[in-house]
Amino acid sequence: MSPGQDESFDPVVCAICGENRVVPGWDCGTFRFARCAGCGHLYQNPQPRFDGLRERYGSEYFSYELANDSNFFDLMLKGLQDADFFRLERSLGERRYFLDIGCATGMLLAYLKQREWRVQGVEICEPAARYGIEKRHVPIFTGTLDEAGFAPDTFSFIHFSHVIEHVPDPREFLREVHRILAPGGYVVVVTPNTAGLQARLYRERWRSAIADHLNLFSRRSLARLLAECGLRPIGWKTWGGIAKGMAPGFVKSPLDRMAKIFGFGDVVLYVSRKPPRSAPRSAPRSAPRSAPRSAPRSAGA
Ligand SMILES: [Zn+2]
Repeated sequence: MSPGQDESFDPVVCAICGENRVVPGWDCGTFRFARCAGCGHLYQNPQPRFDGLRERYGSEYFSYELANDSNFFDLMLKGLQDADFFRLERSLGERRYFLDIGCATGMLLAYLKQREWRVQGVEICEPAARYGIEKRHVPIFTGTLDEAGFAPDTFSFIHFSHVIEHVPDPREFLREVHRILAPGGYVVVVTPNTAGLQARLYRERWRSAIADHLNLFSRRSLARLLAECGLRPIGWKTWGGIAKGMAPGFVKSPLDRMAKIFGFGDVVLYVSRKPPRSAPRSAPRSAPRSAPRSAPRSAGA
């Protein structure tokens, strides 16, 4: 969606390294991405105030989400397959509580509910959330993640696809994800990749250089942020060599394959994990060696 006419802007610091000095990045006309002078991260600075941003996710946004929901669902499922989701699912056993942040109309949640997951969604676009609740019968909180205020250590799997680039403070966001994720639980994040071929080729004309995206990540900057928020990165994939229509099929297909193999794809996916809870440090050293193994570790391992 395009920026509102009355939106106001605030100066912000780099979400990755905390630096506030910038050098010119990409000028996209009505908005621009600055490049952090410290780490090279691309982000909107000054940044539109959140109340203005929230208004971008109204009925127009809902129509866009509804028109694309099967398409987005297929992409998310492919992403989860790439993240080895079904193996992780088995490893979680009974502890199946899935949170989808930016769940749109709840299609992924409805699918997982059928796979016997307990599910929860968060969606800022009110008509999309209402649609999911009424038509797909899945629980969705309408608003932002921090407004939802979930209890600590609640979910065993948290997923957010094409969300973190919209969030005003991604570090705060990931800290909140860490807080509500159970020890040993997994996080899958998907976002456009500034280190991909298309971003390097098209720069300010790149399809992900849009007004709604406040932060644009590379594989490295994302991994750094995840790790600093206590979410240990355990695997990544990129995909999308060149956009549809930008090259003939005989160029696109091999480029797409190579992007996946060599990691220069247009979108990056990271799987990370909150470390399982270890045995309490205060346990006396003289504790008998035959102490039951199941006690403290079973909560998270
Ligand atoms: Zn920086």
